[in-house]
Amino acid sequence: MPADAISLRARQIHFSNIVIDTHADTPQRFLFDQFDMGHLDSEGCVDIPRLRAGGVTAIAFALWVPVDITGAAATARAFGLLNGVEEQIRRHPDDVILARTAQQVREALDQDKIAILLGVEGGHAIHNDLQVLREFAARGVRYMTLTHNAATDWADSSNAGARHNGLTGFGREVVLEMNRLGMIVDISHVSDQTFRDVLETSSAPVIASHSCCRAICNVPRNLSDELIRALAARGGVLHITFHAAFLSQEYAVAYKALSAENTLREQAANDKFGLNEAQKLIEGQRMSDEWIRAGKLPRVGWEKIIEHIDHAVRLVGADHVGLGSDFDGAFMPEGLEDAAQFPRITDGLLGLGYAETDIAKILGGNTLRVMSESEKVRGF
Ligand SMILES: [Zn+2]
Repeated sequence: MPADAISLRARQIHFSNIVIDTHADTPQRFLFDQFDMGHLDSEGCVDIPRLRAGGVTAIAFALWVPVDITGAAATARAFGLLNGVEEQIRRHPDDVILARTAQQVREALDQDKIAILLGVEGGHAIHNDLQVLREFAARGVRYMTLTHNAATDWADSSNAGARHNGLTGFGREVVLEMNRLGMIVDISHVSDQTFRDVLETSSAPVIASHSCCRAICNVPRNLSDELIRALAARGGVLHITFHAAFLSQEYAVAYKALSAENTLREQAANDKFGLNEAQKLIEGQRMSDEWIRAGKLPRVGWEKIIEHIDHAVRLVGADHVGLGSDFDGAFMPEGLEDAAQFPRITDGLLGLGYAETDIAKILGGNTLRVMSESEKVRGF
C-alpha cells in the first residue's frame, strides 16, 4: 500500500490527534555518527522531516546502554547520549523541544513543535546510585527501562536466567524513588517475576515502552496475556513495538535458526564498526533485508502491528495500548520502515472498525494519561 493510499478519513484523524512514539534509539546516531536530525536522511528511521510527515507529536528518545558497559562507564554513556539529544534540541529550536510533562507535550503541539521525551534504557546506567537516578530526572528523563538484556545488580531481565528472582530490596527502592521523582517505570526487557514485583511496588501506573504480545509471537521480550491483564489492572499501558522478531513468530524462529551465521555477521560488524552502535544497527537491518530477499527470513508486513494492537485491545480494552516503535534500534517491518509511515497505523485501525476515540487513545492519549498520573505522584 503506497503512503498516498491512506484514506482521507485516516489522515484527518491521524493529523488531528496526539501521536506519541515511546521508544526510538536515534540518540545512537547523534552520538556515533554526528547525525543531524534536521534533514531527510537516506539511512535510519527518524529525522524531523519524517516525524512531521508521520504526524508524530512526541517521540521518546532512549538513552540505551549496552549491558557489556558497566559501572561509571554505563552512566557516562547514558549522559553522552543525553548530551547528543540536547544538542539536537539546541540546533533545531523551531522544530523540536524537550518535554518533561504531559502538559508540555500539549504545549509543543500548540507551538507546532515536536516534543522530545527522554528515557534511560538499562537500569545499570544508574550504577546502583539513587543520586544518579535523580540527576537523570533533573535533566528531564521521564522513564527508565529497568534492565536491558542482562540482569542488573537489582533486577532480572527477560533475556537471561534469574539472578535475584525478580527485584531485590534495592530494586524496590529504585522503583519507589522513580515514583517520587515522577519517572515512569518501564517493564520492557524485565523478567516476568521482576514485572510482578514492580506492579506490587509501584504507586504509579507503569508502561512497557516497546513490547508485543506473546499470544501472537512467543518470545520472552513480549508479554503474556496474564501480564497484559495485570499491567492494565494497575492502569498501565503496553506500547506495541515494530521489531520484526517480536511481531512475527515465523521471523523469530527463522532468525534464531540463523544464529551461527548471525554470530559471524556480528563479529564482522564489531571488527568494522567497533563501538559505533548506530552503524552496527544499520548493518543489521541491511542483513535482515538481504536474508529476506534470499528467502532465509520471512517477510513481515506492517499489518502485524495492527494484529498485536487488536489482540491487546480485545484483552484489556483501548485504554491500555500505545505505540513504541524501536526505530533506529531494531528491524522494521515492510510498510513501517520509518517515522513517516505512522499514518498507516490509524488507517489499519480504522479498517478494523475502531472508533476515533479509541484510535486517539492508542495513538497517544493513553501515554499522556500515564504521564499525568505519574506526575500526580510526584506533585509536579
Ligand atoms: Zn529495547
